[in-house]
Parts: sequence; C-alpha cells; structure tokens
Amino acid sequence: MQQRLLDDVDRFCRELRPLEDIAYLEHRYNDMLIPLAKKYNLLGMIVPKEYGGRGADNLTYVRALERIGMEGSGIRSFFSVHTSLAQRLLMRYGIEEQKEGYLKPSARGDKIFAFALTEPDAGSNPLEMKSVYKENEDGSYTLNGTKYLITNATIADAIVVFAKGNDGRMSAFIVDTDREGIEREPLTAKMGTPTTDTGMFELRDYKVSRANLIGKEGDGWRIAKEALIDGRLSVAAGCVGSIKDCLVESVRYARERVQYGKPIAKHQLVQEHIAMIRLDYSASRAIVKHATMLKDEWDKDCSDERKKRRADLAVAEAKLFAVNAAYDAADRAMQVFGGRGWSYLYRPARHLVDNRVCRIYEGTDEILKLKIASGILGKEYRAYE
Ligand SMILES: Cc1cc2nc3c(=O)[nH]c(=O)nc-3n(C[C@H](O)[C@H](O)[C@H](O)COP(=O)(O)OP(=O)(O)OC[C@H]3O[C@@H](n4cnc5c(N)ncnc54)[C@H](O)[C@@H]3O)c2cc1C
Repeated sequence: MQQRLLDDVDRFCRELRPLEDIAYLEHRYNDMLIPLAKKYNLLGMIVPKEYGGRGADNLTYVRALERIGMEGSGIRSFFSVHTSLAQRLLMRYGIEEQKEGYLKPSARGDKIFAFALTEPDAGSNPLEMKSVYKENEDGSYTLNGTKYLITNATIADAIVVFAKGNDGRMSAFIVDTDREGIEREPLTAKMGTPTTDTGMFELRDYKVSRANLIGKEGDGWRIAKEALIDGRLSVAAGCVGSIKDCLVESVRYARERVQYGKPIAKHQLVQEHIAMIRLDYSASRAIVKHATMLKDEWDKDCSDERKKRRADLAVAEAKLFAVNAAYDAADRAMQVFGGRGWSYLYRPARHLVDNRVCRIYEGTDEILKLKIASGILGKEYRAYE
C-alpha cells in the first residue's frame, strides 16, 4: 500500500469539499477539480512512474477511489473515466508513441480523457452503435457518428472513441478535441452529479491519423469490454466511500439531533438504519477487495483468459452489489436526517441522487445480473448479446 498517495488523496478531498459544496448548490461544474487534482499529483495514480505517474498498485488505487467516493460519485466518476478507463486502456494497449504523446501528458494533467462508447441508439448493447470509420488512401481514418451521455465529454482534451469499420467490427481511436470535425455539447438537465461534466458530441468527417488507432483494427470490442472491468471496479470502490460518508454523517447527526427528549441515536429504529448502513459498508468493502485481488491476478498475467473471466465476474458482482448498497445507505442516511435529509444542503441527498446513476452506467443492474447468471449457468444461457 502506498500511504503517501493515500495521504495526498485525503488532502485533495479535504481541500475540494468546501468548493464542491458551493458548486453542488449552484448546480455547476466544479472548475477546481482538475487544478486541485494536479496540485496533489493525482491525475496519473496508476500510470507507471516512467510515464510520469505514481505507479499505484491495484489495492492502493481502490483505496484512493474509496476515499474520493466519500466526496460523491460525481467526483469519483471523473477519475473512473480519466484513469480507470482511458489511462488503463492505454497502459494495456497503447504503443510507445501513444504512451509518450497521451499517457505521459495525461499523468501530469495536461491532457484529460473521456471514453465514448454509448450512443443515442446503443447503450446496453454497444454492438448496435452507428458510428463508423473508413480508411483513407493515405492510411488515415475518417470517423462519423454521435456519442451520447459521455463523462468528461466537454472538458476532455482527448477521447477514446469506438466506431465500426466496413466489416462491422469495432475499433478504438484517440480523438483530439481541438481539431476540426468534432462538436461538443454539455448535458446539464441531469438528476445528480452536477459538479462533473457529462456531454455529447458529434464527429463529422473527423480525420484521425493511423497513429491514433488503439491496438489493431477490429480490437475495439475487446478493448472496450476489458476497460469496463476496470471502470466497474472503480464505480464499486467509489460506492464503498459513499457508504462510508453516509455512515459518518448519520452517526454524527443521530448523536446531535434531539427528539422526544433524547438524541435520536437512542431510538431503536434509528439504530436500525445505522446498523444497516454499516452492513452495506462492510459487505461492499469485502466484495470490492475480493474483486480487486482477482483483477490484480489478471493484470499480472493479461493473456490468461481464465483469470480475465474470473476478474470480470467478480468485478460485475462487486459493482452490482456495491452500487445498490450505496443507494440503500444514502436512502437510510436521508431518513436519519429527516426533513433536512431532503435538502442538498446536507450530504445524504447528494449521495442519493449521485449514487442512483451508478446503477445505470458501466453496466446496468439488469445487464450485470444477466452477466453473473450466465457466468454461472454457462455461455449458452446468456440472455443478452
Ligand atoms: C451520468 C452518465 C454518465 C455516463 N458516462 C458514460 C461514459 O463516460 N462513456 C460511455 O460510453 N457511456 C456513458 N454513459 C452511458 C451508460 O453507460 C448507459 O446509459 C448505459 O450503458 C445504459 O444504456 P442506455 O442508457 O442506452 O439504456 P438502455 O440500454 O436503453 O436500457 C434501458 C433499460 O433497459 C434495460 N435493458 C436493456 N437491454 C436489456 C436486456 N437484454 N435485458 C434486460 N434489460 C435490458 C436496461 O437495463 C435499462 O434498464 C453514461 C450514462 C450516464 C447516465
């Protein structure tokens, strides 16, 4: 465990919180998120030191995400996309040129990433995507399509974009956002996570050089599915933190608030909420730790398909469990706070709406249930794809 990194994460979170409180109430993007993450050198937590990162091991990174999750699933989702999805994917598949040109600056915070798989007509099943690419005579590619509900879309300097070729197979490209052919738009009418960026963009005859193809042509679907293992683990880890914050807040409030002549913490039905939030926390932390260990085994032996399947399933279980536990914990915390709990001035309400989306992105509850079931029953019973 790398304690120094975790200390920096804690300092970052403490400095961010009062700014986040204001941004949340004003329902606007927190423009201090990236500057503070830069200040504490947190934009390349898992990136190897040779590329300017901090080289965190899986368990340390998961602990870091748990701490960040205490500040809310919105803040954590920024790191999920920049680091767990995009940086990890480039560490796994990027050629040297891409690591020098993108991974290195991203670890310094000079390039921020997004990851764009979802489209208006392709969500749970990305294979139904309509974005296409064609190869040009000079070896470059031209991309066309629309990506929707993309975290970091309008703040990203580079986006990992998935599109289909003539043969219907998917490929992954690094798309620079400062070039012609891309138009971006923020999505602001959202239920939660107001302080982080969600947007959409359209690629119209966007030209991308061959050097920006990730992996080989046709590797896109495998790259996306592997990236989602990391992404899901990050969501689950963040939810552990969110539950912890709900516990801390509920315990503090229940001890302070007096009704019927005694602290509400002395009322047995309030104690039930505290006990169940604690259970949400303990169980989620354990299942996330187990999934982290299996992912770690796969990371150390990436070509081992059996280890990958084990990690994939364990992470799906951890994500499904932790996001629902986090939603339950936030709901219970809100109940402990009574009428105040219904206000965004207090943390439980924010956790409740922010955690709700965790049950939708990076694999909906339904898709993960089907995935887990087919993992047990066998591929021939797969009820999706
Ligand atoms: C805030 C936010 C941030 C996001 N960030 C990103 C991002 O950075 N990058 C990215 O690529 N995407 C991102 N997404 C998109 C997200 O991954 C999708 O919303 C998600 O995969 C679900 O797709 P959908 O919204 O199209 O729903 P749909 O696929 O249309 O699903 C609608 C409902 O039908 C259910 N359903 C669908 N198929 C089945 C089936 N076979 N069996 C049972 N039930 C089924 C679903 O579970 C769901 O309940 C984000 C979404 C949100 C809300």
